[in-house]
Amino acid sequence: MTLIRFDKVNKWFGKLHVLRDINLQIREGEVVVVIGPSGSGKSTLLRCINRLEAISEGQLTVDGFRLDDPKTNINLLRQEIGMVFQHFNLYPHKTVLENITLAPIKVRKIAKEEAEKTATFFLEKVGIPEKAQAYPSQLSGGQQQRVAIARGLAMKPKIMLFDEPTSALDPEMINEVLDVMKALAKEGMTMVVVTHEMGFAREVADRVIFMDNGMIVEEGTPEHFFTNPREERAKLFLSKIL
Ligand code: ADP
Ligand code: MG
Repeated sequence: MTLIRFDKVNKWFGKLHVLRDINLQIREGEVVVVIGPSGSGKSTLLRCINRLEAISEGQLTVDGFRLDDPKTNINLLRQEIGMVFQHFNLYPHKTVLENITLAPIKVRKIAKEEAEKTATFFLEKVGIPEKAQAYPSQLSGGQQQRVAIARGLAMKPKIMLFDEPTSALDPEMINEVLDVMKALAKEGMTMVVVTHEMGFAREVADRVIFMDNGMIVEEGTPEHFFTNPREERAKLFLSKIL
């Protein structure tokens, strides 16, 4: 079943044409890694999926919701989508547990006790149950990012979006976050991941998408992509980061 479908999607910021005729279908359970140079439109592509950015032209359907239709209830859709950013965006004055339970209580109207049970479950899953009462500033970057992932999961989303989740981390913390993401992928979560971590892409991606200048220039399995990319721009990009 297709969960995310872009049909000839275009997006402008003023005169800047940032997404050009994007056609893309992502199936339930698929892990898609998006790579490409800075400014190529990766974040914008991702942000359109939960309408943090509105598309300018074309059709975009996510979990049956038409995002190009102004009548679509965007808040309902957003409950189905977790997003993890480069900067963890945790609330500094709330504990880890409060950060995770906030949306389930406020948005999903879950009882506090149950929300805390769920939060504890996901904190265990990301490997830091002992941090429930800590504040974000008391955690390492890797731990904060794992809290951000647990927060996303606590909404029981159908789709998880990751925008360079390890780019702001010290090298020794990258793997602890990638390991959580790998486990999530193995459990069948539908994931769209913008990352420069090519080891992750090789190991976990069902499909790699290479963007340049607002276009999907090449896509394929990691096997295809890393051994035999057709496009010069993809080859050049890989030669710079591998
Ligand atoms: P990437 O994530 O691949 O680095 P982005 O999607 O962030 O690329 O950006 C694509 C282009 O759109 C860039 O030229 C960027 O400067 C521009 N851009 C991104 N967000 C905005 C915005 N809110 N307003 C204007 N221009 C933007
Ligand atoms: Mg970006």
